[in-house]
Parts: sequence; structure tokens; C-alpha cells
Amino acid sequence: MVESIIALGTNLGDRAGNLRRAIGMIGRKMSLVKASSVYETGPMYYEDQDWFLNCVVAAETELRPRALLQGLQAMEMQLGRRRTVRYGPRVIDLDILFYGNEVVSEPGLEIPHPKIAERPFVLVPLNEIRPDLVHPVLGRRTSELLGNLKLGGEQVIKRPGLLAGLIS
Ligand code: AMP
Repeated sequence: MVESIIALGTNLGDRAGNLRRAIGMIGRKMSLVKASSVYETGPMYYEDQDWFLNCVVAAETELRPRALLQGLQAMEMQLGRRRTVRYGPRVIDLDILFYGNEVVSEPGLEIPHPKIAERPFVLVPLNEIRPDLVHPVLGRRTSELLGNLKLGGEQVIKRPGLLAGLIS
């Protein structure tokens, strides 16, 4: 079994429900270990859209990375994700951040996820559950990556209680 870290994001419809349903699906396919709190975050890249809810989960799996990606994409489709504008509104986005300490670079699949170090909405929840995880390419702990982040006014607000107790 390998521990993978998955980032979840949603800004359409019943956002807390979308996270709950996605984590439920992940829990049926993998073995959930830990979930961060939920954070409400202002949109990056494409700013004319609603705020997101984001969190990250750690889960163990026997699936290889490509099969894991396919499984997560099937969950996105089941939850009603339709691909429209890049970085635009979405019911659910599931990204593989890490897969153990493996480095994967293939067409359509890059692990660690290439944008981890620039995304406060990933680093803040990740730092909550895995502050000492060393990024296998950058050679830095999560806490260091977060400390090095040049914040440009991005908002990442903890919403305690949302999804509390989902994983006991
Ligand atoms: P997005 O629109 O952000 O969900 O991006 C989806 C695309 O990113 C898919 O076509 C994936 O093949 C690709 N991708 C590359 N690396 C990853 C990763 N580590 N996790 C999830 N999707 C990835």
C-alpha cells in the first residue's frame, strides 16, 4: 500500500455536499488515513467566479498512479463535472498531489502535482496534515514550501466544523 495525498476543490452547487460525496467515494476505493479541515478560498488564475472550498486527504491505495488518476476522473464525472473553462467553475476537482515519494512524469500525469508550491489553497491544508512531508523533487518540507510562498493577498479561510468527523 502506498499513501497518496489528494487535493479536493469545488465552487459549484452544494460545495460541502460535493466534498462529502467525493470523500465518500474516495473512501470506497482507497483507505482513508487523514483529512484536513475545509478552507474557503478565493479563486486564483480565473478570478471571475465563486469562492472554492478546498481540503486535502491522505489515503492508502494499491492502485498504481495511472489507475488512481482514472479512478479519480471517474469520480469527477459521477459527481457531475463537465470540463469547460480552464481553471473555471467546477463541481469537483480531484488532483493527485503525491504518491508516496514517487516521481511520475508522463503525458497527462505529473506527480508530485506541478503547482503545489504556488498554491496556498493546497499548501495550507496540506501543512495541517503533513507538515513534515518532503517534496521528492523540491527537497523541501511542506512547512518550508508554505513559509516560502509569496502571498499576494490570496484568501484561505479555515471553516472549522465543515465536514468535521468525516473520518474518525
Ligand atoms: P484539471 O482540469 O485541473 O482537473 O486537470 C486535469 C488534467 O490534469 C487531466 O487531464 C490529467 O491528465 C492532468 N493531470 C496531470 N497531472 C495530474 C495529477 N497529478 N493529478 C490530477 N490530474 C493531473
